[in-house]
Amino acid sequence: MIVMKFGGTSVESAAALERVASIVKARLDRRPAVVVSAMGKTTNKLLSIAADAAAGRRSAALAQLEDLRSFHLREAEPAVLEQDRPAVRGIIEEHFQELGELVKGLGLVGELSPRSVDAISSYGERLSSAIVALAFRRQGIPTAHVDSRNVIITDGHHTQAAPLLSRTYALLADVVAPLAREKVVVMGGFIGSTERGVTSTLGRGGSDYSAALVGAGIGAKEIQIWTDVDGMLSADPTVFPGGHRVEAISFAEAAELAYFGAKVLHPATVLPAVEKNIPVLILNSKRPEAAGTRITAETTSCANVIKSIACKHRITVVNIHSTRMLMAHGFLKRIFEVFDRHQTPVDVVSTSEVSVSMTIDNTARLAVICRELREFAEVDTEENQAIVCLVGENIRHTPGVAARAFGATGGANIRMISQGASRLNLTFVVAEQDLPKVVGALHDEFFGEPAPAVSG
Ligand code: ASP
Ligand code: MG
Repeated sequence: MIVMKFGGTSVESAAALERVASIVKARLDRRPAVVVSAMGKTTNKLLSIAADAAAGRRSAALAQLEDLRSFHLREAEPAVLEQDRPAVRGIIEEHFQELGELVKGLGLVGELSPRSVDAISSYGERLSSAIVALAFRRQGIPTAHVDSRNVIITDGHHTQAAPLLSRTYALLADVVAPLAREKVVVMGGFIGSTERGVTSTLGRGGSDYSAALVGAGIGAKEIQIWTDVDGMLSADPTVFPGGHRVEAISFAEAAELAYFGAKVLHPATVLPAVEKNIPVLILNSKRPEAAGTRITAETTSCANVIKSIACKHRITVVNIHSTRMLMAHGFLKRIFEVFDRHQTPVDVVSTSEVSVSMTIDNTARLAVICRELREFAEVDTEENQAIVCLVGENIRHTPGVAARAFGATGGANIRMISQGASRLNLTFVVAEQDLPKVVGALHDEFFGEPAPAVSG
């Protein structure tokens, strides 16, 4: 068995639904269980409807709801068999009627609890999974729709619920695994329910997590995350368009990349797969023939030192300088306490005996942070900086990577340098305006001749 997960863009229209059905049909011999996101931007729209409703903007909420209803009807009807059209219409009407009542209820209550947010946002996947199951019938795929809320059991932390793993795995093994041997099980991602049966969600982007849970629970051989890119790339495509596809990458490397803004997949979401040693593939539903990127627990050997170059844009460097820091202890603690108090995450840190530089991307509290730091140190800030992060397990046992990297950046002013404890990244900060030049030069240096595991 394998799990195939399709994101919002993969199921956003009648044409996309048809593509998904043929991708699944071509892989029936692998006994796929399918997990789907809400269609297109449905989750965003449902959240905006909920906010409008609770703020008393009832007619705006109802108008958006009507748009969303006609979007679902328009895309779903042509995707199913003629004889299934009344059924698909019925499902959509029934769900939107309930949504309409929820919206009116929220308007009366005038406030939005996390539990009500979940009640509303769950409809995206409830609808898409029912629609996808019917769309599969059109291509003769034997399907069984399973309501994820019956098998993914979570705590009560609404909008960010954590699955109760042993309950969930037991249900997946008892309910989904036997069904999946006979038919293609279709489930909505993102949603679950508490032990008391209250609808919950796993957090934004949670469908990848659902797919990993289902894969771990049914003992899948592979988890395929179908999205709209060819996989992970050797450089951030918004900075350097000529990157190669990364064929294989370890979870640890993928984690470093995700941290620095590679948005393809957040590895934390596939932890259940890592724990059970199930490989995760990133594939493109618009180009199913492309081989994608394979993420595995162990390192895959690769002659390239670097797997990918990630970037984080528009960050601010905060420099903190104090001679009192020399030979003193507790100084860093005081600094970090200030950032902590203002809930501002710090990304890269580098220190000398008398100064510390750190980068932040959220500057909402910067002014007060600086004010508090100035009580015991000199502070200056530099805006419009960018983080460049070279990632690759081979960095740790290849001498001379830093020399090659800095040699290649040809005169760009490098502001901060850090190599993390994992030693699978080399990170530094440059001015945002130098970024395209720097990334291009690094790519030429490290991917001039891509090795087999990094090829395009
Ligand atoms: N539909 C949910 C979201 O947009 C979950 C997902 O797509 O992964 O966040
Ligand atoms: Mg997604």
